[in-house]
Amino acid sequence: MNYTSLESYVHKLLHSIQITTPDEININKIAHNLEIELNYWNNPSEALIVGNEKYIFLDKRASRKEQVFKFGHELSHVLMDCGQQYGMPELFREYQEWKADNFAYHLCVPTFMLENMDIPFNIYKATDLVCKNFNVTIEVAVKRLKQFETKKQEDYFQSIAKKNCTEKDRILNLWY
Ligand SMILES: [Zn+2]
Repeated sequence: MNYTSLESYVHKLLHSIQITTPDEININKIAHNLEIELNYWNNPSEALIVGNEKYIFLDKRASRKEQVFKFGHELSHVLMDCGQQYGMPELFREYQEWKADNFAYHLCVPTFMLENMDIPFNIYKATDLVCKNFNVTIEVAVKRLKQFETKKQEDYFQSIAKKNCTEKDRILNLWY
């Protein structure tokens, strides 16, 4: 499968801290290995960088599955955003939020792990399998399964397009 830059990033990041199977996705282990201090409080989840110190605060009141997703969201802010969001143009802030959620979906259910699974054709069974294996909510499981299916179809059509590609098409592709 051709990975997007996000899929490659998650793959490399998790491999660099020896996480290769769903049961190894552990937010304490991830935080520890990336030298991020993980705390819990009675407020909405947040990330904080002070000098070289990185912190993630998770909402105590949320369920464990929600906390794991929020951890992914906040981790994206720690790894990819520089500086605080205060005073940032609204549109850019929204973009970072969207990007952080997208990262969280991929961290919780990485593509390279889905590839190694036998996903049932039945949508209820498939959802149940992903929920149980990755310990995620139904919403996260369905979203990732849909993305994964779309991705597989795109890959398939691309491979057919490549096969039927004439020399002239190839020249055109290289030029434009
Ligand atoms: Zn955020």
